[in-house]
Amino acid sequence: MEDGLFRDNSKLEQKDDGLERDGLTTRDMLTRVVMVYLMPRKGLLALSLLAMMLVAATTGLMPVLVKEAIDIFVDDNTKGIPAWIPWAVVAVTSTKALNEFFVGVSRSYLGLRTVADIQIDLFKKLMVTDFADLSKTHSGRFVASFLNDATRIRETVNMLVAFCKNTLIVLATLAAMFWIEWRLALISSVILPVILYFMAKQRRTMRKSSRQSLQETGELSTIITEALSGIRVVKASQQERFESERAADAINRNLKFLMRGARARAASAPIAEALSGMAIAAIFVFAGYQISRGFLSAGDFAGFMVAAPLLYGPLKALATVQTALQEGVAATARIFSLLDRENTIVDIKDAPDLKVTKGEIIFDNVSFNYRDNTPVLNNFSLKIPAGKRVALVGPSGAGKSTVLNLVLRFFEPQSGTIYVDGQDITKTTLWSLRQATALVTQDPFLFDDTIAMNIAYGSSGADKAQIEQAARRAGAHDFIMRLPSGYDTRVGEVGRLISGGEKQRLVIARALLRNTPILLLDEATSSLDAQSEERVQSILDNLDSDRTVLTIAHRLSSVRNADIICVMDKGVIVERGSHDELLAFGGLYNDLYSTQFSGSDPKNDSGLTPSAVALTTEA
Ligand code: ADP
Repeated sequence: MEDGLFRDNSKLEQKDDGLERDGLTTRDMLTRVVMVYLMPRKGLLALSLLAMMLVAATTGLMPVLVKEAIDIFVDDNTKGIPAWIPWAVVAVTSTKALNEFFVGVSRSYLGLRTVADIQIDLFKKLMVTDFADLSKTHSGRFVASFLNDATRIRETVNMLVAFCKNTLIVLATLAAMFWIEWRLALISSVILPVILYFMAKQRRTMRKSSRQSLQETGELSTIITEALSGIRVVKASQQERFESERAADAINRNLKFLMRGARARAASAPIAEALSGMAIAAIFVFAGYQISRGFLSAGDFAGFMVAAPLLYGPLKALATVQTALQEGVAATARIFSLLDRENTIVDIKDAPDLKVTKGEIIFDNVSFNYRDNTPVLNNFSLKIPAGKRVALVGPSGAGKSTVLNLVLRFFEPQSGTIYVDGQDITKTTLWSLRQATALVTQDPFLFDDTIAMNIAYGSSGADKAQIEQAARRAGAHDFIMRLPSGYDTRVGEVGRLISGGEKQRLVIARALLRNTPILLLDEATSSLDAQSEERVQSILDNLDSDRTVLTIAHRLSSVRNADIICVMDKGVIVERGSHDELLAFGGLYNDLYSTQFSGSDPKNDSGLTPSAVALTTEA
């Protein structure tokens, strides 16, 4: 037999995945689910509740009808059963059936609607969460939370509805039993608190194991996305086995957590059943005694025997409600902790919009570090004049991308101020700042949509002519026209037909279409081969002159035409000037340039290909 199938004392270690928040009680979470997601559907809830009451009432009526029928029959067995009884039975059962259907459908709808609402909220939240916060968690975990945790909340809602329904049924059936014979009813209800006690006991185990399993699912999702997106690296490094083992570990650990929950759940119903058996045995003993003394009629006893099993089903369900609910609650806790994350980069109260007229950017004594206290920017000051093309170059790790991150307010400096056209960007709205900037990154990101939509991304309302004009200016029009459906070609279908350079031109077209006063280029050409780089570079060099362009480049070949080149090292600007001035100065720029030029320095991180070197020399 498998080890630890029925009992498991092993300790499973799990790292914190950052999606958990302590201090939320089951009650807090249920209240929130009810108030935020169920209460807006008051009408449906009220109707469901009414239907549940009818289900409960009709359930309670059945034993009463049986009792009446048998009592009448035993009283005078010559007349048979009066006609109203079968009619009443039909009426009661069909009312019950109809309402059961209504409760079933509305229960599903409320559950599914809640999941949908939560997913919508979650996605919205993910979109507005601070970049810094998002980058701390692997996207796979978010995906798992989105698909797995959110759908489990349906269980919570289903269970809430089931809980109401079953409680009502238990109450109605008990009422019927008390009406028929209160002493017998009293004996039967003794088991209730005992069942409740066991329910409470299992709750903890269930919730803990569910939470651990959900976390493990997130881990698995991370492993899968990582292994697939990095499949080339995995194969080339011959790590297929390692990755498979890593996945198997997570899957097996998840199995153990799931089994812990399953054991607790599997124990609930049998415990309830065994206890009910005892209650029924007690009824027999007592009823037999009462009938023999003439205190109990055959109808009472029959009614009771019909009622007792009716009680059993809902009681069993109530016994598992607690445990099943805990699965949903564990998922709810994870979702709420995501929804409740607080953003730090937010608009201050009544912040005005940023008004960009010229596009001048000033870094005034800005100091910044990411996590630890190693400063990335150190009293960094830089003036980027309006309408100029300014390039930031320097060794890797100098802080160049950080400068862009700060201009976009993806992060905020610990001290110092960044001004755009004289306005402190932390005192204006984020929206207006991003509205004034366009960013082209190193890896051109295209959405699975048409070419036209990809270019128009971020420029809502752009018409066909504007899209085409942007594409022409980015040098993308000709190759787009060669695609099967031109501008209407879906990127997903032709992803492989578009080269890296072409993708980059599409992304540049996207940035141009936004027509922002500030254009940020983060190594926009560094992933391209020499030929594509040259093309894209000449497009960028010939952009209209009224825009402020801040370029980051590893390859110095791509910045020669910039108005001002700033050389950064260890978080400060060390040199500044034009290409020729800096070469003549003979400092760091000159060193970097000659390193790239010769291509012989092993520390060279320029990514400069031999052909790019050749291009540089030709120029
Ligand atoms: P460059 O663009 O000049 O290569 P970066 O601005 O990317 O330099 O990085 C500067 C320093 O900040 C590096 O030491 C890098 O490791 C660190 N860094 C960059 N991004 C992050 C981040 N998101 N979290 C923590 N450290 C970071």
